[in-house]
Amino acid sequence: MAVAIIAVQGAFREHGDCLEKLGVDYRFIRTPSDITDDIDRLILPGGESTTQRKLLHELGLFEPIKEFICAGAPVMGTCAGLILLSERISGGDETVFGTLPVSVYRNGYGRQLGSFSAVGNVGVIADYPMRFIRAPFIESVLSDDVEILNVTDNKITAVRFRNQIGLSFHPELTDDTRIHELFLSI
Ligand code: GLN
Repeated sequence: MAVAIIAVQGAFREHGDCLEKLGVDYRFIRTPSDITDDIDRLILPGGESTTQRKLLHELGLFEPIKEFICAGAPVMGTCAGLILLSERISGGDETVFGTLPVSVYRNGYGRQLGSFSAVGNVGVIADYPMRFIRAPFIESVLSDDVEILNVTDNKITAVRFRNQIGLSFHPELTDDTRIHELFLSI
């Protein structure tokens, strides 16, 4: 079994490094033929969600990935990846996969706070170092089944809905692998 990491743009290599540290097999996905039968879960990395959306369509990856998520495979979206998963993007941006019932607000911390760190509990994970980079936040959850895993400065930054995890921050940019381990345990 292997983890697919969408590798069209953004911080995909760093997710690979985390999985390598954990001894987990992974594949970078750039074309539909990269999606092999041994893949059982998916990571959508941070980066620029509008660029990623465009490339996913251009490379023919949008349909097979949406099918994979809708079939119930575990998926983790970090930062731009969270935006791609969200059912609603505040401000009128087009929904991409729309499988995670939350409304997300892009660049939610403004220009002054483009990049910052915080430490907090993420579900059962205590004192997790969270790194935010031009991060979105979750302004509302659209289903009672969405579990809120973290709130920082009154803003929801981490959720789980069934097999999907959505994070405003970047667990791949810290040495702490507990979020990846949580994802791998689904
Ligand atoms: N600001 C980016 C966007 O809106 C997300 C930033 C990130 O992934 N670090 O797509």
